[in-house]
Amino acid sequence: MVKNIAVIRGDGIGPEIVEEALKVLNKVAELYGHTFNYIDADMGGCAIDKYGDPLPQSELQKCIDSDSVLLGAVGGDKWNGVPGDKRPEKGLLRLRAGMGVYSNNRPAKIWPQLSDASPLKKSIVDKGIDFIIVRELIGGIYFGEHKTEGDTAIDVLTYSESEIERIGRIGFETARKRGKRLCSVEKSNVLDSSRLWKKVMHKLAEEYPDVELSDMLVDNCAMQIVKNPAQFDVIVTENMFGDILSDEASMITGSIGMIPSSSLGATSCGLYEPIHGSAPDIAGKDLANPIGTILSAAMMLRFSFDMPQEADAIENAVSAYLDKGFRTADIMSEGMQQVGCKQCGDLIVENLKKV
Ligand code: NAD
Repeated sequence: MVKNIAVIRGDGIGPEIVEEALKVLNKVAELYGHTFNYIDADMGGCAIDKYGDPLPQSELQKCIDSDSVLLGAVGGDKWNGVPGDKRPEKGLLRLRAGMGVYSNNRPAKIWPQLSDASPLKKSIVDKGIDFIIVRELIGGIYFGEHKTEGDTAIDVLTYSESEIERIGRIGFETARKRGKRLCSVEKSNVLDSSRLWKKVMHKLAEEYPDVELSDMLVDNCAMQIVKNPAQFDVIVTENMFGDILSDEASMITGSIGMIPSSSLGATSCGLYEPIHGSAPDIAGKDLANPIGTILSAAMMLRFSFDMPQEADAIENAVSAYLDKGFRTADIMSEGMQQVGCKQCGDLIVENLKKV
């Protein structure tokens, strides 16, 4: 198969981790006889430096025209003084909106080889951590009106029934393919938008009798994720709650550097990126863990290119690499062999076998 992949390297560790993911994709192409064409696109701080805009229309268009987008990370202190609408992160929000990807999928799964890396007690980890957070991505408070008038700042939170319904469906469909338990997270004791959220979820539940729907307030969910993560199968929630909860969920699995994500909309063209940021503190030092990006590439093969075996091959290679005791600095522990970002990529390529 021939696939055109828009590649956004971005800022900080972005270029380093993306390079390793491309090595892995090249090996997959060689093993399975595919052709992956890479189309470089600029976004974030590097685009501000080049064009004075974090996502010029020409770069967005390259992404829209591609079969999917692989993104490293954007942002850094250098651009902290840039006005709000020109900040690197604004490029990311515009990319998500421009591609129409309204559903962000983040697995929170602990690799057995890394169970010691979780900050949670062993007795909690041993019960298992394996759930997905489905987060609404292009609505809610991040996309509402933002303004400051005198000493008052205003951010507007809006959700329509149709916006809730389409993400709700992804939640139910995802649960249907897994453990058939969906937890809808909101703040319906305070917010009108959450009361609408809850109403729409329950209406949808009638179409999914095989999926067990539960409701949870977001503050309770934040507690339950650390107290008893094994209770969750799929969580569906709105944009800002999902942003915060998915960072919490990733932390309990050990390293932020290990976790991929996918963002999808109505078409198969998705946006795939690790969940972490540009890590300016370790940029250019060959210290970054590229596995979150490599697993994001695997998700791209699975969800956008319908290549499940190729995705399995990458995930097996990551597992074999961990089994052999290799670790980047962020997940290093006693008795393991520390490797840099480049060597990590090389070793995963070395362990990649056709499934
Ligand atoms: P961060 O995720 O970049 O870093 C947090 C900590 O985790 C740092 O100590 C970092 O060294 C470490 N870390 C992150 N990724 C790692 C990896 N792959 N391997 C090893 N260690 C890793 O978060 P931050 O420091 O809050 O943000 C830095 C910049 O990134 C900011 O400008 C922020 O706005 C931006 N950011 C971008 C994205 C994105 O592009 N999607 C997401 C979050 C933050």
